[in-house]
Amino acid sequence: MQPVTRIGARFTTWTCKSCRDALRGQHHAARPNVPSRFFASTRKLNRGNLPDSPARTRFAPSPTGNLHLGSIRTALFNYLLARKTKGQFLLRLEDTDQKRTIPGAEERLYRDLQWAGLEWDEGPVINGPYGPYRQSERLSSYHAHIQGLLQASKAYRCFCSAERLDDLNRRRHDKGLNLGYDRKCADMPVDEAEQRAHSGEAHVVRFRAPETWPRYRDLVYGHTGHGEKANKKLYVDAPVWEDAILIKSDGFPTYHWANVCDDHDMRITHVVRGSEWMASTPLHIAMYAAKEWTPPLYAHVPLLVDQNKQKLSKRNFDTDIASFRDKGIFPEALVNFAALLGWSHQQKSDIMSLRELEQSFDLKITKGNTVVSFEKLRFLQEQHGRRRISAGGDYLEQLIRDVAVSLLNKEGAAKIAALVGKRNLRDVVASMLHAESLAFSSPLDFAEKCSIFVTPPRRPKLDIEDSQLVKELHIAASTLLFVPESQWTQATHSENLKDMDFHGPDADPKSKKKWKGQLYHYLRWALLGGVPGPNIPQTMEILGRPICVDRIQRAISESSQESKQRENMSTRPQILKTATDASTWSAIKSEATAKS
Ligand code: GLU
Repeated sequence: MQPVTRIGARFTTWTCKSCRDALRGQHHAARPNVPSRFFASTRKLNRGNLPDSPARTRFAPSPTGNLHLGSIRTALFNYLLARKTKGQFLLRLEDTDQKRTIPGAEERLYRDLQWAGLEWDEGPVINGPYGPYRQSERLSSYHAHIQGLLQASKAYRCFCSAERLDDLNRRRHDKGLNLGYDRKCADMPVDEAEQRAHSGEAHVVRFRAPETWPRYRDLVYGHTGHGEKANKKLYVDAPVWEDAILIKSDGFPTYHWANVCDDHDMRITHVVRGSEWMASTPLHIAMYAAKEWTPPLYAHVPLLVDQNKQKLSKRNFDTDIASFRDKGIFPEALVNFAALLGWSHQQKSDIMSLRELEQSFDLKITKGNTVVSFEKLRFLQEQHGRRRISAGGDYLEQLIRDVAVSLLNKEGAAKIAALVGKRNLRDVVASMLHAESLAFSSPLDFAEKCSIFVTPPRRPKLDIEDSQLVKELHIAASTLLFVPESQWTQATHSENLKDMDFHGPDADPKSKKKWKGQLYHYLRWALLGGVPGPNIPQTMEILGRPICVDRIQRAISESSQESKQRENMSTRPQILKTATDASTWSAIKSEATAKS
């Protein structure tokens, strides 16, 4: 008879149904019964389901592909939970499916995690007290752990051939029945099974599934699991059981067995993983119960979907971490983006660095599928770009180099040399990056935005008609050019523009303000052809003195000509209005001849 199942000190003592029946004098079947609902634990959790003791978490990828957005989010949540609770974050390679292992995937995984800043405390490369951290190097431990289950008949060796199992399943499938195993080998005497195994006969080791799968309390989804009635259907026709394979015929463990053994051996307290694993969790919990081990707490995170609610996959988006990196996305922007996928925080702002996330993280994770909006990533990239620029240092210098390369590629060296003049390219690009209205998302995109400085503007007709005002603006614009090269900075121009006034101290402040607005408007027209961009002092610094002198002088001559033409036109229509007879026409003609 099974003892009263005591699932570790963290949980209340629980008596399974069969044991309760046994206590009432009923027969107890010799198979591992799993406590249903034993996860209704009294374990204390803070707000947002945070434990009050250090959490040991792990990221357990299989080296079968590249790290993508969903997996970096899983890694991140595990990492943040460990950091927030001052625990440890482990990396474990689940490489027991040797056929699916891709050469080079392991190294790419390390590179991507390190790029994102998710340094592990224990794991491959650095090792640790519970290593090795590659499952293919832990085979002896899976075999050692299975012995106890075999002896207690909680697992058994199955010698059925693949053909027999295929045939069994095909017949059930044709009848529309659930698939499973008919337990042909389940009651084979242990001696016989051991002997056949010893003589090298091909076989697998199966878990003897409990009568009912346990339910458990998920930290995100609450009470969940298969529940008691879930496998009733299995008993239609000849009965079959969901006796999962733990050890395959090649001697390697399955994912389920290795995962459970390792989480136990590595003292994992919390498992944060994708909701696609939720269906396997009752099996995992049943295995813990069979071993009388304390299971970790589980937090399943919701699926990532696109705007059409379709699962995010390679087919609709390239979400490989490497592709974000190649596009110039900052690791802190991607990590910030991944953190917001399903996690609802209480901070004032969504913009958080990894350090800030470490401080504010909790397990308040939403249950519904998470819609991924790449607009949000763009926003976060711009915000983190702004942070990098204002912080200065190496990050800024790297940004400057990247933008300089993109500008040179896009515009060609001659145009860039003309813009830079006697200055150095580094300083010009730095001024561009400091212009707040030019949000940085990638070097290429930024170089695109900076075209307005490189290509001389095509000015439309100036839309200021008052010639007196135009004359004032000419004087004001020319005055700005008196600044010598050595003081040609945004600060000097800001100061000069602030002081510029054509109205005297007693003038009406409203009309002063209006006039200043017209001056800015005029200067933007003169310097950039009127296109939006950074403010005028910043624009003047970026363009440099010679270009500003050239553009403002040309603009003054264009706008003077336009004013003159307008003056001529404004007298002509008045005469034309009355020019109804030949005598008036000749008067206009002679006036025009006299003028010229
Ligand atoms: N190896 C599994 C994966 O690649 C790990 C699942 C888990 O975290 O338990 O997703």
